[in-house]
Amino acid sequence: MFTIPELPYELDALEPFISAKTMDFHYHKHHQTYINNLNNLIADTQFAPMSLEDIIKQTYGSDEYKAIFNNAAQAWNHTFFWNSMSPAGGKITDSEIEDHIIRDFGSFEKFRADFKREALEQFGSGWIWLVKNKQGILEIIKTSNADTPIVHSLKPLITCDVWEHAYYLDYQNRRADFVEAFLDHLMVINNLKQL
Ligand code: MN
Repeated sequence: MFTIPELPYELDALEPFISAKTMDFHYHKHHQTYINNLNNLIADTQFAPMSLEDIIKQTYGSDEYKAIFNNAAQAWNHTFFWNSMSPAGGKITDSEIEDHIIRDFGSFEKFRADFKREALEQFGSGWIWLVKNKQGILEIIKTSNADTPIVHSLKPLITCDVWEHAYYLDYQNRRADFVEAFLDHLMVINNLKQL
């Protein structure tokens, strides 16, 4: 049985950029539902004793286990998203991290512009990620629906949820404003310490 991981901050900690109401729905309804669905789907199956990561990797690409993959990957992606944000986010405070960004994107401004562009180009539901590829290079990718970098041999460092439920109560159709708030005020660049 999986349980929902605790949020790393209070529901209202990301205001005014993400409201407590959005966080309440997103965490207690959407994220919790993925966990509940997953638990129901894997009960009494070979997946029941596995880690979340193993379930995701073993069901990826399978028609038979698509519902398990979708719910497991969404459970994982949401936990990663909560930990990609902080009330004090949006700034680089570490010179080593800044060096990596500049090496691979040219400048922080280019990284920010690329991330925003990918977020706006994602058609429909999905996720925007800063990942480290197998060559150790940082890149920005988008994934659709529940798809997740961990099945593509990419190490995720930051993600932004661009499903409408992530921003619609606060920003309606203005995805660009939500992504800018994420980049400028919430994104936790310290996760790059995993480099
Ligand atoms: Mn979501």
